[in-house]
Parts: sequence; structure tokens; C-alpha cells
Amino acid sequence: EQVHVTEMLDEVADRFSFQLRQRSIAIQIIIGDNTSPIWLDRDKIDQVLDNLVSNAIKYTGDGGQIRIMAERLPNDMLEIKIQDTGIGIPKKDLSRIFERFYRVDKARSRNMGGTGLGLSIAREIIKAHGGAIAIDSEFNVGTTVSFTLPYMEEGSGTNHDGKS
Ligand code: ATP
Ligand code: MG
Repeated sequence: EQVHVTEMLDEVADRFSFQLRQRSIAIQIIIGDNTSPIWLDRDKIDQVLDNLVSNAIKYTGDGGQIRIMAERLPNDMLEIKIQDTGIGIPKKDLSRIFERFYRVDKARSRNMGGTGLGLSIAREIIKAHGGAIAIDSEFNVGTTVSFTLPYMEEGSGTNHDGKS
């Protein structure tokens, strides 16, 4: 289906508004004015966004900040970034973070729930859409996950699911 980027990102933030308020985490959404509507599988991309925002909340202390940024790149990809001011990920773990069941350390994840599948599922979904996902993080400073999605004509390319 054809999706308005602003609307999709506002709705992600809305789904987490209770948790965000409870944890005093501020969320900011910044949309480039060149982001026109995009064809994508909304349910799947929502699944990706929900995982990334829930990670950002889980691994950010009370009073932290989350930013969701979107812009259309010169190569006709939509880039969405989710940035947090959380505990970060040590460099040595970064290369493995998209593996199934990989979690950074037991001590920090013990109370958090979850299985370590979120990021690997996100990567599968983004790949199936013809995009890419990457993570950058600095321990004790924060984490940014960015992914891209191609702009394409209705019904063309890899994201045609027959019901769009
Ligand atoms: P699930 O998503 O299945 O509920 P999970 O959140 O632990 O469980 P992933 O989303 O795959 O699993 O993330 C894998 C690991 O990467 C996490 O356990 C955590 O250690 C680390 N991680 C992911 N996102 C962040 C983040 N924003 N800040 C710090 N660490 C993160
Ligand atoms: Mg997760």
C-alpha cells in the first residue's frame, strides 16, 4: 500500500506513548520535506519500526531522548533512522547484533524480556523489501539504527504483495 511517511512514523510514536511517558523519554520525529508517499508492506514495516523503537526504549535510561528521522536520499531510497541516548553497544558486539538470538550480555538483558530475534527479523524484512539495515553505536552514549527502502512504482519490484 502507499504510505505517508509522516503518518506512519507518528503512529509508531503513538503506539509507545504510554511507555515513553512512564519513562520520561522524549521522542522527536524529523521528516525531510522530500519524502513523498512510498509503496511498502505496511504491516511488515510497522513490525520493523516497533522493534527498533522498543529496543531504543528498553536500552535508554529514564529521561533519555529518541529521535526518528526520515529523508529521501539522492539515490531514490527512503532512509529512516532511529537514534537513542541509551547504554549503547560495545564495538565488539556490533558485528553480531543482527544474528538470531544474539543479545549483548546476560546481565543487561536479564530483566528486559525478549528473545534476541527482533533485529534479525527486521533485517529479513528490510532485505525482502530491497533495502538495507545498519547499526552504529557508542557504548554509554547511544545507538542509531538506520534502514533504507527503495521508492518504486506500484506493483513493480520486490515489495509487491498482491494486495497493495
Ligand atoms: P526481542 O527483540 O526478540 O524482544 P531483543 O530486543 O533482546 O529481543 P534484538 O531486538 O534482536 O533482541 O536486539 C539484540 C540485542 O541488541 C539486544 O538484546 C540488546 O543487547 C542489543 N540492542 C538492540 N538495540 C539496542 C539499542 N537501541 N541500544 C542498546 N542495545 C541494543
Ligand atoms: Mg528487540
